[in-house]
Amino acid sequence: MANRDDKVPENIEGRYYVDTQCIDCNLCRDIAPGNFAHQEEAGYAYVSKQPNGDEEEEQCSEAKDSCPVEAIGDDGE
Ligand code: SF4
Repeated sequence: MANRDDKVPENIEGRYYVDTQCIDCNLCRDIAPGNFAHQEEAGYAYVSKQPNGDEEEEQCSEAKDSCPVEAIGDDGE
């Protein structure tokens, strides 16, 4: 389960976030390319845009459920 006290710093403020457990597998960026981005130097994903509308909400929810290390949370602020 993702820990909102352990978010990577690049996350945009809001409900969805990535925490430091991310292993940079690229799955979330494939599923929700409009909402997740790549911190290339450090090698992890972060939330670049909070979902806006049903389609992005579904994609972010699917990304969260699909993350192999449960690094995505939806209880951020
Ligand atoms: S799906 Fe999870 S482990 Fe993979 S890049 Fe996204 S946050 Fe990181």
